[in-house]
Amino acid sequence: MKDRFGREHNYLRISVIDRCNQRCHFCMPMDMQFFSPKDVLTFEEIVTVVKVGNKLGIDRVRITGGEPTVRPNLPTLIRMLKAETDVKDISMTTNGMLLERFAQSLKDAGLDRVNVSLHSLNAEKFRRLTRLGDLEVVMRGIRKAMEVGLTPLKFNALILQGFNDDEIDDLFKLTLQDNVTMRFLELMPIGEAMSLDGFGSYLNLTKVREWLTEKYRLVPVEETKGNGPARYWKAPGAPGKVGFITPISHKYCDTCSRMRLTANGEIRPCLAYDVHVSIRDAIRRGDLAAIEAGLKEALWMKPKGHHWEEGQTTQTVMSTLGG
Ligand code: SAM
Ligand code: SF4
Repeated sequence: MKDRFGREHNYLRISVIDRCNQRCHFCMPMDMQFFSPKDVLTFEEIVTVVKVGNKLGIDRVRITGGEPTVRPNLPTLIRMLKAETDVKDISMTTNGMLLERFAQSLKDAGLDRVNVSLHSLNAEKFRRLTRLGDLEVVMRGIRKAMEVGLTPLKFNALILQGFNDDEIDDLFKLTLQDNVTMRFLELMPIGEAMSLDGFGSYLNLTKVREWLTEKYRLVPVEETKGNGPARYWKAPGAPGKVGFITPISHKYCDTCSRMRLTANGEIRPCLAYDVHVSIRDAIRRGDLAAIEAGLKEALWMKPKGHHWEEGQTTQTVMSTLGG
């Protein structure tokens, strides 16, 4: 499935719920208005979209939210996707708060891998940034995920200058101890990220990569199973890897292969723009041809790239897009 600019698309990020058990300052407002439950796609409806997507070349999906683990019976969806669709790889991005409870059942259902958001190793800072998060609970979730084999585990750390940039070294050192991947994320100017009073600001991570490379003699590594924009390096002899997601300092729009399905049935081809096609009615009518047409139309509307580096901002709530 190619867009107007010749980019092949095989990857769908599925937001299974817009609700969340955290309220990270850079992502979700405290007074968030959630979708009405009747508008949220059922598991059967999500599977229908993925089946249509399969015909068009979608073979990798990532489950996201809001926080995906607050969606009741999530393992059932994973099991259905494994049994009824042709996806080769199912991963999930989570804040880890419920991972201790659900890691085993998600693994048993067929989940291949997880990314856990881990923005700080300091419990007090972690709580302040996430408002409702508990680092100790997340760490227990991470240990459980490793124990049940949801590996190799990836961590996402959004780095904010003046808030957690002093922890880059310690977060990186996790890759010297275990076969984990630490991914550092640049702040995207979306929704709440534009009013981060007291929580730091955008940091250029290409520069961070340069100093980490020099300090630890990092060497580039090929990522075989990744779907995405991160570029990976490792310290010689280290079990783990480090990745950098640098939408602003090192733009990667020309290689974008992803589309997003929101919890209320919109196909969103690009994070940076409000362009979307709602396929919810088509799904509810069981009209497979209209779902396919909606996917193609959304892909056709996909812009060439963002202009965040030139000061563009995006007025939407990141949590409803799933990251
Ligand atoms: N709740 C899950 C979590 O936090 O991992 C999944 C959804 S969350 C929206 C997906 C990812 O987006 C997280 O790693 C989060 O840190 C990241 N994110 C949220 N807002 C962001 C922003 N403004 N810029 C860059 N990344 C952001
Ligand atoms: Fe929730 Fe994830 Fe957004 Fe934080 S980043 S508020 S955990 S959806």
